[in-house]
Amino acid sequence: MTLIAEIRQSRTISLPQLQTLLETSNTTLLEELRLTARQQADEIYGHAIYVRGLIEFSNICRNNCYYCGIRAGNSKAVRYRLDKEQIMQCTHTGHRLGFRTFVLQGGEDPHYTDEVLCNIVSSIKHAYPDSAVTLSVGERSRESYQRLREAGTDRYLLRHETATESHYRMLHPDSMSLSHRKECLFALRELGYQVGSGFMVGSPFQTIEHLYADLLFLQELQPAMIGIGPFLHHHDTPFADQPDGSSERCLRLIALLRLLFPTALIPATTALGTADPMGREKGILHGANVLMPNLSPSAVRKQYSLYDNKICTGDEAAECHACLSRRINRIGYRLVIDRGDNKA
Ligand code: SAH
Repeated sequence: MTLIAEIRQSRTISLPQLQTLLETSNTTLLEELRLTARQQADEIYGHAIYVRGLIEFSNICRNNCYYCGIRAGNSKAVRYRLDKEQIMQCTHTGHRLGFRTFVLQGGEDPHYTDEVLCNIVSSIKHAYPDSAVTLSVGERSRESYQRLREAGTDRYLLRHETATESHYRMLHPDSMSLSHRKECLFALRELGYQVGSGFMVGSPFQTIEHLYADLLFLQELQPAMIGIGPFLHHHDTPFADQPDGSSERCLRLIALLRLLFPTALIPATTALGTADPMGREKGILHGANVLMPNLSPSAVRKQYSLYDNKICTGDEAAECHACLSRRINRIGYRLVIDRGDNKA
């Protein structure tokens, strides 16, 4: 059996095997990895690509993650928050365009108390009962996650960022901890959320051992969604001078994730599309099956700046959707009007 067939069948990988796949320049092996991953995705999800309308509703954050452009310490960031009416307007536009999942993402902004967020979530669920609501607002208490779930939130995205304690310390200030991040993820899972986790590829100081630990942690968590994208520097952060992550390495990891987690919902992320102009298409051809186009009002898009040169910040939601739809059709896939739940 080939290495790729073995990984696919066993749904496990060893550290030396990971090292081989990340370092090889054997194009035959790499093409087998890509094609097997895509075949795996096709068997479960066909040529349907799920879309999530991303609403970046606040760039105000109490945290100071060293990699992130909207960190509290970045005094140059121009801050904004959207109110309920603006968010509802985004979902209205999105629903008309065919989105059946809305992802509300933001910094850890204390303005959005449980009461405020629950009100927004339940209004969206009431207006669009056929749609899923995903939150991505960082670490909160278990009680808070429970209230948000009771208000109708279906899914939660919280990347673990890195599963190695010492590496976590290099990316975050002492006020944050990997153990708390993990606690949050397990609490979310217990509360019945469809949970998404993930990590940046090529974050500063990342080694293959760190990536291996990330894969093992994901195997323990078994999330419904796994989002990865290359680290991209932001000029007003402590990591301004750090090299960007490799889009090629990210693609290999997407393919590998598809083999290890056959039914996972795996997005071809905006960061991947920023690192490589064809990144999102390549992501799909490596086994990704989700895209998350931006539904935020164009006036604030540039301000939700996690990293430099983010794509699609000048477009209207409808333009973005049409452009992406054309690009995906060109590679033989199609955007579908569907909540896009995990087919486990
Ligand atoms: N506050 C929320 C949302 C964070 S933004 C939370 O804590 O989950 C979503 C993701 O963007 C982060 O989890 C991180 O993995 C990614 N990200 C942040 N800065 C980045 C950068 N400079 N390059 C690439 N990805 C980045």
